[in-house]
Amino acid sequence: MEDRAKILIVDDERLNLNVLSDLLRQEYKVVLAKNGNQALDRINSDNPPDIVLLDVLMPEMDGYEVLRKIKSIEETKSIPVIFITALDSEHDEARGLEMGAVDYIRKPFHPPIVKARIRNHLIISRQRKLLEGLANLDGLTEMPNRRNFELALQREWRRCSRSGEKMSLAMLDVDCFKQYNDNYGHTSGDEILKKVAGVLQSEIQRPADLAARYGGEEFVLLLPDTDSDGGRYIAEKIRVLISELEIRHEYSSVSNVLTVSLGGVTVIPSTFSKAKDMTVGADSMLYEAKRRGRNMVVWTDLT
Ligand code: GH3
Ligand code: MG
Ligand code: MG
Repeated sequence: MEDRAKILIVDDERLNLNVLSDLLRQEYKVVLAKNGNQALDRINSDNPPDIVLLDVLMPEMDGYEVLRKIKSIEETKSIPVIFITALDSEHDEARGLEMGAVDYIRKPFHPPIVKARIRNHLIISRQRKLLEGLANLDGLTEMPNRRNFELALQREWRRCSRSGEKMSLAMLDVDCFKQYNDNYGHTSGDEILKKVAGVLQSEIQRPADLAARYGGEEFVLLLPDTDSDGGRYIAEKIRVLISELEIRHEYSSVSNVLTVSLGGVTVIPSTFSKAKDMTVGADSMLYEAKRRGRNMVVWTDLT
């Protein structure tokens, strides 16, 4: 039952709402709104609809304005919107489609057409989400990839800039990994990367935290609303946990087990220059950790 798609129907005429919801509620979870503001509240919620049927002509806020607002917000702009237009209003249809509506349905409704169009757009939208999900995942470790990290960094940077909160970022690099690959083989190396990914993912706690594979044998840990004590603590815990996996590495110059080095930085985004400089900062701390002998955390607090 719970994986039924959720449809939001927006219309100022009760009769239209009734007709459409009678038509759809057997197959879908139907939510109603009788004006634009109510619709936007439902869309900008923790549990947004999978598709919106939107009437064009409504008092106060018309369908175009509602659509424009949906499109202007990153989190809601990919929710498919189908316009509901009167039979004789080709002009409305064209304008709605130009603004990004995926389709239109004409009043009076022809039930099989309404159902078929909704079904088709839900399929397309589900496929898009699936592809988007894959495009954001690293193939080997199945954890978020660099692209996903860059998007999250921008998003959290903006949020912390508004709130004035601190933000921490750590970069992790496996020590002497070339030696590992050269001696135990690339396939064993791949297994190590999966194990490191597993430790990182098990150690992130809050919903806004993100662990990602940055590339090769490098990983990042994005910790919004986290000060340097918090960041350093997590980084150190990860370093210890990975050494405690006791993965034999006889060719390491640091230890007889596999180790990692981490570099981290803490900033206040509202006073610090750019998100990108944060990555540069963490990277230079990582370099410092390598230079000082590896298997350690080096952190800088720039707040
Ligand atoms: P350091 O302690 O200074 O970090 O030395 P290192 O040997 O780890 O660093 P270097 O950058 O010289 O080598 C990184 C190695 O990581 C090179 C490459 O063989 C390996 N590597 C990168 N990506 C992958 C991957 O996807 N799978 C495997 N198995 N190895 C990878
Ligand atoms: Mg490296
Ligand atoms: Mg390395």
